[in-house]
Amino acid sequence: MAAPRKLDYEEIFALRKSGMTYREISRKCGSYTTFIGKICRENGIKPYGGYGRAQRKKDQIDIVLDYIVKNGGVLGRTLKKLDIDLCPETVRTAATRRGINLRDYYHFGKENKNWRVAQPGHTRHETGYVQVVGTCKHCGHKQEMRVTSIDISKTAPVCHRCGGLGHGKL
Ligand SMILES: [Zn+2]
Repeated sequence: MAAPRKLDYEEIFALRKSGMTYREISRKCGSYTTFIGKICRENGIKPYGGYGRAQRKKDQIDIVLDYIVKNGGVLGRTLKKLDIDLCPETVRTAATRRGINLRDYYHFGKENKNWRVAQPGHTRHETGYVQVVGTCKHCGHKQEMRVTSIDISKTAPVCHRCGGLGHGKL
């Protein structure tokens, strides 16, 4: 009967430094993932540049959340657009931990000729439609409006302050 393979710590450390995950190392060297993790941590072994999978994931979460906070949008579509392979639940959890409510950014950044949704968040009118606060591109006036009036209409509604013309017409 063959003797069980003796674990080569140096090999494990080298693999870890090269960026392999604990799981990958455990498969290759025939030991438990938790044990590989334990000895690597105890010996301060990290992938070169500190750029392990966990760090990469964290960086990707930062990229997605920064993008949404700046530009608005829906999470699933944003992940596709940025070509980032993260589980939406992971991003949602991270957002909540940072006090970001992703729902507030669904309509944020939408615009038409006269209006831009420059303020996160939306409400639902008692009759059912979604309302956002639009900022007039001509005079900066803010007023509530249906999100569809920005989504679908190229210009509507009329600004209560300048009439959408930027001439201070009241
Ligand atoms: Zn205006």
